[in-house]
Amino acid sequence: MSIAGAAACADFTKICPLVSRRTNPGYGGEQTRSVRVKRVEFGAGRPVIIGGPCSVESVEATLELAHAVKAVGGDMLRGGAYKPRTSPHDFQGLGLEGLQILREASLQTGLPIVTEVMDPRLVEQVGSYADMLQIGSRNMQNYPLLTEVGRFGKPVLLKRGMAASLCEWLGAAEYMAKEGNLDIVLCERGIKAYPSGEYSRFILDLNVIPALQRETFLPVIVDPSHATGVASMVEPASRSALESGCHGLIIEIASERPGAACPKCDAAQAISPTTLGRIVEFASSHARERMEGKACATA
Ligand code: PEP
Ligand code: MN
Repeated sequence: MSIAGAAACADFTKICPLVSRRTNPGYGGEQTRSVRVKRVEFGAGRPVIIGGPCSVESVEATLELAHAVKAVGGDMLRGGAYKPRTSPHDFQGLGLEGLQILREASLQTGLPIVTEVMDPRLVEQVGSYADMLQIGSRNMQNYPLLTEVGRFGKPVLLKRGMAASLCEWLGAAEYMAKEGNLDIVLCERGIKAYPSGEYSRFILDLNVIPALQRETFLPVIVDPSHATGVASMVEPASRSALESGCHGLIIEIASERPGAACPKCDAAQAISPTTLGRIVEFASSHARERMEGKACATA
């Protein structure tokens, strides 16, 4: 792709031949690789909705939110046991205890789990609890971590670095593909660009979705929670992301029960389970309309 006035684009076929659409003609012009996490499938038509708390904070809160995700029709549970925090003095997550809580929530609800791994030395530990390993924005270019996670072999959610170009992002995916793991789902989570931080946490880059789909066959989902940082922006951002063709959403929620504890991390961007339910409903009807549209076009 070349854009007048823009810097020359990298040659993806050389930087990331294993994940580039051009060097894998089996995927054709539009086909997406479907990535399976237990019974959930990314890139298979119906958008995947992942919901849950920013961090796992207690058994009670996590179970309540997991059951809420299930009740509104969500597909997977998110929640950080190891949290990348700006200050080392802030809550860092419950670690192994958090992973055990996630396992219990998954057993009770049947929802597969995605959770972040930050340390190459902990890939085995986190990977034995997670159904999908998340590489966070801050670690997108942590190459030893990418290599370990690639070797581990479980499906991966690869978040975009907050200042990463498309080329750097796909280069990160290539590190895991090189280890034999192509079960990678990309996640746009907002980038730092002027005026991020003024009225929203980051800038949600929806343009990257069609650009990615041109360059790679890997599915892509959107995180409207971290991209906006503002609860009231999450629902419209989710709708826009689905309209832009993403294969799913990952969304932070908090309890709407009176008296529930305020989340320790990212409270301002957490939406209620009721709002999550509306997003699930929108995603389902949007997918139905697209299928019907395709059927009409071919009739
Ligand atoms: C998260 O999803 O928990 C998270 C920390 O997101 P990001 O890495 O995109 O900031
Ligand atoms: Mn968060």
